[in-house]
Amino acid sequence: MIGQTDEFSLIARYFAPLSKGYAGALALTDDAAFVMPEPGKVLVVSTDTIVEGVHFLPGTPAGSVAMKLARVSLSDLAAKGAKPFAALLNAVLPRARDAAWIVAFSDGLKQDFDRFELTLIGGDTVSTPGPLCLSLTVLGWADVGRTPHRSGAKSGDDVWVSGAIGDGGAGLLAARGGSGSAYLLDRYRHPQPRLALGAAIAGLVTAAMDVSDGLIQDLGHICKASGLGAEIAAGSIPLSPDFKQTGLSAVEAATMGDDYELLFTAAPDRADVLLAAAARSGVDITRIGRMIDGAGVRCLDALGNDVTPVRTGWRHFD
Ligand code: ADP
Ligand code: MG
Repeated sequence: MIGQTDEFSLIARYFAPLSKGYAGALALTDDAAFVMPEPGKVLVVSTDTIVEGVHFLPGTPAGSVAMKLARVSLSDLAAKGAKPFAALLNAVLPRARDAAWIVAFSDGLKQDFDRFELTLIGGDTVSTPGPLCLSLTVLGWADVGRTPHRSGAKSGDDVWVSGAIGDGGAGLLAARGGSGSAYLLDRYRHPQPRLALGAAIAGLVTAAMDVSDGLIQDLGHICKASGLGAEIAAGSIPLSPDFKQTGLSAVEAATMGDDYELLFTAAPDRADVLLAAAARSGVDITRIGRMIDGAGVRCLDALGNDVTPVRTGWRHFD
């Protein structure tokens, strides 16, 4: 039981090895970590919190929880064209949790920190009478002037998305006991942060973000930040073969969330260079629509009918 160990032993045993000798982390034994900024670089910072029962189902393997936590945070760095550098972990742990949980969790985290070249430089470890809750703050380096915001889209820009949409959402339905393939479940539990693609396109796009809450809702954020509207074609939303097998529609895919794909806008004359950058990164990208004067997102079917759903994505507070 975690409650039988003090937090200093927990930190030394399970978290300090993830600091990998980074000098500024002081082996997680000081009050703070020290980061020397690199000249010409901007430090990109993002944080994400996941709560058991809200963001992951109780009983999810602890290693998968660790990977989901790392990857949803890294997806934000990918969207801003940043290279992962370091992370801080806030672990809010139920005292009664089995010690084996933390072993499997730190193992999964170590695998992803190695895979994505992250170093753990700090955090906090506390107990709770409530559900398990984890926050990861990730830091990455990007080139000054090559950090796409949500606000830069221009009227007439193409709207692009990476990978396939809906797999994560369909994987969640499978995890809840519905039908769905092992591929979809894996896409839900272990999303792939599009780091290479994000870095390759950062200087080519006018706006970018990652899709976490639903494609249509998230595109709405780019629209609002850029003072524009968008039109997308339902038939052009990229769907995986496994997703198509579920019988869910493209419009449903665009509202489900958990995609962790990149959504971005660019001038139409950038199409060839974007496609080449995507090919080099090993990720498909698909043009799904364009930015227009106005407000909000309209989703159109092949006949030009408006098929925009009422509920466009996931919200915590409604
Ligand atoms: P303080 O009391 O000064 O806030 P703590 O005792 O909470 O410091 O933490 C000691 C050290 O361990 C700090 O360097 C902190 O960043 C690190 N740390 C604590 N919890 C975690 C964690 N879950 N992951 C990574 N580092 C941690
Ligand atoms: Mg202190």
